[in-house]
Amino acid sequence: MPHPPRYQVSVIFTDECNMRCTYCTTAKRPVWIDEERIERLVALLEAAPGVDLDLNYHGGEPTLHWPMVLALTDRLPRLTRDRRVSLNMCTNGTGLDAERAAFLRRHGFDVRISIDGRAEDHTRFRHAREGRDAGRARALYDATAAGLSHLVAAGVNTAANMVVTPDTVDHLLPNAVHLVKQGLVHLVVSPVVGMPWQDEHLLALDQQLRGLLPLWRRWLQGRPSPRVEDLRRSILSEIDRATYCIGERMNQPDARVLVIGPDGRIFGDEPDARTEKALVLGHLDDCRDLSTLPPLPRTAFQLMYDRAFYEPHVLRDVRRTHRLLRNRMRELYRALFGHAPPEGQPRIAPPPDLEAEALRAGPGCTDPR
Ligand code: SF4
Repeated sequence: MPHPPRYQVSVIFTDECNMRCTYCTTAKRPVWIDEERIERLVALLEAAPGVDLDLNYHGGEPTLHWPMVLALTDRLPRLTRDRRVSLNMCTNGTGLDAERAAFLRRHGFDVRISIDGRAEDHTRFRHAREGRDAGRARALYDATAAGLSHLVAAGVNTAANMVVTPDTVDHLLPNAVHLVKQGLVHLVVSPVVGMPWQDEHLLALDQQLRGLLPLWRRWLQGRPSPRVEDLRRSILSEIDRATYCIGERMNQPDARVLVIGPDGRIFGDEPDARTEKALVLGHLDDCRDLSTLPPLPRTAFQLMYDRAFYEPHVLRDVRRTHRLLRNRMRELYRALFGHAPPEGQPRIAPPPDLEAEALRAGPGCTDPR
């Protein structure tokens, strides 16, 4: 079987994390990838010469397993000879210092750091593994903020993963301003999944997202064109991500997505504790050729919409919040750049009963379909 034009491979270095965010769905098992499996993965990728590769360093918290971060990165020269390879890391930033930030910069990583904005909102839901007291949460926030400062000082291309909840949505805008002042351009606004979004919260989300336009208009004044392009691409990426979360787009439609678990299991999309069994495609120890792995019939979000794993109200809220997000991002793009955003990859239709359900959403629904 031929290889696809691009692999997007996410390596989960460990399921463990030093934090326990209320809304996190990652299974916190003390499982850690070992060097043998890293070597096995690199050998499999080596056997797909010329295939472009996006390699994501994931967790749990990948910096907890830094020796394996080094072990994988040390092997990259075997993969970069004849293809484009991009590197990304998703981290809560608490394990980053100046030396590690310099390492990430040297190897050309893009980093996505989990920070919700100012301390008072971030620490409401992001707690320490050891317990929920305010002092520990604040100390971890300070470590995340320090990690972010190291990344910015080192010149690492950094995005913020901002989770927004019904309790913090009123502060989305000041939190965005706070992060932009730290030097960030790409804000990944993630409406939380699993907490109830009432109509009043959707109205607040709507208002706060509309407030991004004056923020970015001011920011654009006098910016050099590469930074303007950064903003343009970040908004496009948010439109695509919202479409994926609604269940109308594959995760990376032009690539083969593979997620390598710390125990060697190979998944077809990002698993969480509820969906992982349904997303398994194989195992590193048995796989002889990545191109022979079976196709993934349903994405992680489509599995969520299959309802076996979530309550109907959760699904309804995911769709309402992400439709709203997508529409506001499209408007933002049009207002800032003077034309409609280009159409992304072809859509896949959601199950018809979910469309009907969205239409039946309550009278106060702000979702401008
Ligand atoms: S920092 Fe990330 S992996 Fe860790 S608990 Fe929070 S959301 Fe989960």
